[in-house]
Amino acid sequence: MISRFSKLFLAVAVLLIFITSIAVIHPPVRAYVDPWTQTMFGEDGVESRHELHVAAEKGEVIMPKLGNATAKAELGRATWKLLHTMTLRFPDKPTDDQRHALESYFYLFSRLYPCGECAKEFQQLLKKYPPQTSSRKTASLWLCYVHNLVNARLGKPEFDCLKLDETYDCGCGPEGNSTSAVGPKRDDITGVEVVRGG
Ligand SMILES: Cc1cc2nc3c(=O)[nH]c(=O)nc-3n(C[C@H](O)[C@H](O)[C@H](O)COP(=O)(O)OP(=O)(O)OC[C@H]3O[C@@H](n4cnc5c(N)ncnc54)[C@H](O)[C@@H]3O)c2cc1C
Repeated sequence: MISRFSKLFLAVAVLLIFITSIAVIHPPVRAYVDPWTQTMFGEDGVESRHELHVAAEKGEVIMPKLGNATAKAELGRATWKLLHTMTLRFPDKPTDDQRHALESYFYLFSRLYPCGECAKEFQQLLKKYPPQTSSRKTASLWLCYVHNLVNARLGKPEFDCLKLDETYDCGCGPEGNSTSAVGPKRDDITGVEVVRGG
């Protein structure tokens, strides 16, 4: 004859086993969407996403060694041109978001630059001389300085940073100006106005 206590004990035990098996088969979801903002929250809240972002920017070099000296030099020339032109087109008075974008760009660049050994050296430089982004002038002079440090390491002559503007005149013209001789056309796919020339 089973006592009432034993029956209750058995019922609770069966219920616990049932709940545990459901939890094992369907583990509780660790993320949810805020119904008001539609923001996706992770297990540790929104902050963890930000940390992930910073970690991605400042992580290890991803690319392998690029042994070929000719490829390395060609890639270097093209890249320096891109980077200098970018800082020389950066806003005079950037917003916090624009500054963050440029800083992130350089940190991600230092991980993804296709010459792994160059990227490693560049990461060391960024640690010592973090990107300066308070204005166009600051950003372009910072990059010029950093490029000169690379030049020095490779035994190349120092570049005169006062000559930045004349060296990197991209012919882009002032903002909103089109150098197009023909009237503007729209891209078939994106619908964005096509600017010709350059
Ligand atoms: C981030 C980075 C790291 C690199 N690391 C290495 C490395 O570790 N080992 C390696 O072998 N190569 C490295 N390179 C490639 C190297 O810097 C050169 O690009 C390559 O050797 C070709 O040199 P170059 O003499 O043609 O002139 P580059 O240094 O490529 O410069 C191109 C042009 O930019 C102008 N210039 C020169 N200095 C400056 C300056 N300070 N500011 C503005 N403009 C300037 C000059 O007109 C020059 O002709 C790296 C390139 C980059 C972008």
